[in-house]
Amino acid sequence: MSVNEQMVSTIVQEVMAKMQIAADASNAKGVFKDMNEAIEAAKVAQKYVAKMSMDQREKIITGIRNKTIESAEILARMAVEETGMGNVGHKILKHQLVAEKTPGTEDIKTTAWSGDRGLTLVEMGPFGVIGAITPTTNPSETIICNTIGMLAGGNTVVFNPHPAAIKTSLYAINMINEASVEAGGPDNIATTVEKPTLDSSGVMMKHKDIPLIAATGGPGVVTAVLSSGKRGIGAGAGNPPALVDETADLKKAAEDIVNGCTFDNNLPCIAEKEVVALDEIADELMHYMVAEQGCYMASAEEQEKLTATVLQNGRLNRKCVGRDAKTLLGMIGVTVPDNIRCIIFEGEKEHPLIAEELMMPILGIVRASNFEDGVEKAVWLEHGNRHSAHIHSKNVDRITEYARALDTAILVKNGPSYAALGFGGEGYCTFTIASRTGEGLTSAKSFTKRRRCVMTDSLCIR
Ligand code: NAD
Repeated sequence: MSVNEQMVSTIVQEVMAKMQIAADASNAKGVFKDMNEAIEAAKVAQKYVAKMSMDQREKIITGIRNKTIESAEILARMAVEETGMGNVGHKILKHQLVAEKTPGTEDIKTTAWSGDRGLTLVEMGPFGVIGAITPTTNPSETIICNTIGMLAGGNTVVFNPHPAAIKTSLYAINMINEASVEAGGPDNIATTVEKPTLDSSGVMMKHKDIPLIAATGGPGVVTAVLSSGKRGIGAGAGNPPALVDETADLKKAAEDIVNGCTFDNNLPCIAEKEVVALDEIADELMHYMVAEQGCYMASAEEQEKLTATVLQNGRLNRKCVGRDAKTLLGMIGVTVPDNIRCIIFEGEKEHPLIAEELMMPILGIVRASNFEDGVEKAVWLEHGNRHSAHIHSKNVDRITEYARALDTAILVKNGPSYAALGFGGEGYCTFTIASRTGEGLTSAKSFTKRRRCVMTDSLCIR
């Protein structure tokens, strides 16, 4: 361990200890014993936020961005240490991305009609206190991203984070409130409870002062939120296929796919989870993956052992989620060198390691007899989530056909999946991709409501 790593590790231990104390003593900013108290505090803060100028909101957001960059390494190490999932280096990049590319108040735009009968505006107003449920896979990234967008829209937020990432989540919420107070804003712009549970989430979902709930997680939570009777933004699961045809630059496709698939050990919901390769190029693609991209080709026997380890009683073994390829292979008694970063194999689309959303660097390759067959298989594999899909092809007509057939919120062409988050691609960043409810890549405007403001027979000065 380098001196720098030792220092960070010591800081992380201290921070973890502090957060443990904070969780016990409720002395971290924004943390309450009871969900009703957390909502009440966020409500008081929202009254203050609603009266603040856009400039003042932006000042707090700048503070959150700066603190996120300063704490990126700590947050990354904390999340890996607490959840046992992911890769510290990649999580640092994710925090930098969320700090730099999550839209702020510039996302809130007014529409105007002016004419003989006066001036009409549609303004994007706050909902008030928004309830947000966050995942283990990107715990602090989602909290920071949601808070920036929600605050830019004039809201405050109460979180019910995943219990398995509570320390990291409390750290992020405390940091956000510190940024607000330092920028002259109120405390409690983001709040939560010491011990989030399904009960506390139920209280939040039913509370009269929560008009909107944003859920980021698997199918269970999205269904729960959409059944709550409240307006819901549902950012659910995906199982993104990457289709490769014979017109693609195969060497680059292999590199892009493995880079996307292995990013943060495959935790992002947008990451390549399986490949559909046209028969005529499948061997060459796999050759590049093994020869140049650190992929390990698993034998039939190893696939069986992996299936038994990774999926137990038909459910994902959480001890495997977000682990790296070397660790996963170690679990089935296979020792590989450090440069191995992905496990590949060829299989039918129904293979459990292909059909399931695994969130670990295991990448099944499904052969397709032609492009149409490839599209059909990719549609099947995406399971109607309409979340993300990727393609490597130079044929624009085919890309268009694929995009229409998959009908996903995200479609990356000829690049790694993370380009969709603005990492090596154009556009803004989000960690809440609401494919199910149609907002797509959420941003500040997703957390506002439209309000029409009409002045009759005046203020038209054309
Ligand atoms: P998870 O579904 O286990 O948990 C997500 C959150 O929902 C947690 O806070 C959890 O406590 C809560 N939750 C779960 N079931 C609930 C219920 N019935 N009622 C109320 N709350 C409930 O997911 P996870 O393992 O933390 O994250 C991984 C999953 O999330 C994957 O399926 C991934 O694709 C998805 N995800 C989606 C997005 C997106 O933007 N669409 C982003 C990240 C993760």
